[in-house]
Amino acid sequence: MRYRYGICLNDNCEKCKTKEVQEIPSRKDFVCQNPECGKPLRECPPPKKGGNKKLLLALIAAIIVLGGIAALVFSGGGKSKGAVEPAVAVVDSDSIRAVRLAEENRRLQDSLQAVTDSLARAADEALIAEEQAKEKAQAQSAPKPAAPRASSGNKDLGYAVFKGTLKNGQPEDVNGRLVFKSSHLIDSRDPKSRVADAGDYVIGEFSEGHLVQGIWYGADNTVKGSIIIGK
Ligand SMILES: [Zn+2]
Repeated sequence: MRYRYGICLNDNCEKCKTKEVQEIPSRKDFVCQNPECGKPLRECPPPKKGGNKKLLLALIAAIIVLGGIAALVFSGGGKSKGAVEPAVAVVDSDSIRAVRLAEENRRLQDSLQAVTDSLARAADEALIAEEQAKEKAQAQSAPKPAAPRASSGNKDLGYAVFKGTLKNGQPEDVNGRLVFKSSHLIDSRDPKSRVADAGDYVIGEFSEGHLVQGIWYGADNTVKGSIIIGK
């Protein structure tokens, strides 16, 4: 809907005295709305200022409302000062609880550490015990083969001494040692008829008193050759 705006110029009219901008629908007569006046109006621009004033009023009202809210909030804040104190107390009790929890945690961690330590110590002890047992077992098992080896190992052949296990009084060992006392044929079955010097030795496999295969060393521990005869 369109409107025209005008002010009454009738000095005897109240609306003229107040300089009121009248809003008249464009389809209606453009006359003063004061029933006691009814005189033609002088057209004027739409009351922007009035609108602004309204806006301003609205703003002021808003500010007042906001101020009221602010005041309420502030006064509420004032009230909540009392409420803050218990809140602080709550925080205090919370922090106390936190400290207590932390202490409990520390105590638990300490006891846990103690348990872990003792477990670790127990594990260490078990390991040491195991190692000791192993060593003991090795110490017990080690002399066992050495003992029969030593007891049954040496056989003087006259020209040489055999060191190793014997079977029916004859060298029978996969890792025996034949040390020559004088120059002698290494083995009667050797097709190459190799002769060892005094001090030479042969380490190898012996069966039924004969060398099967082995390494021939000089007295200075240098290899003189490898001997493969077979059984
Ligand atoms: Zn009028």
